[in-house]
Amino acid sequence: MFVLKGIEQLEKAIAKAKKVRPRVEFDRFGRYRVSGSKGYYTVICRKDERGYKTVDCTCKGAERGLVCYHAASALSLHIGLARRQQTA
Ligand SMILES: [Zn+2]
Repeated sequence: MFVLKGIEQLEKAIAKAKKVRPRVEFDRFGRYRVSGSKGYYTVICRKDERGYKTVDCTCKGAERGLVCYHAASALSLHIGLARRQQTA
């Protein structure tokens, strides 16, 4: 799990996601399934009680607090959806 503070944090993971091009499946708003080397990982994007944006992924890297490309891929979808919700 990591706290999202800015987009620059995601740069490396986004670059990797562009190379790997994982499949991102929408489960519900804030919950996505992203394909990885060992099947699908679940990525959860949410705001915690203090208003921090937190991102959880079920892969090994994220367990150690790394920003993984699954999270970056899910976030790009999540941010687009969140924007659409705000303007709706
Ligand atoms: Zn991951």
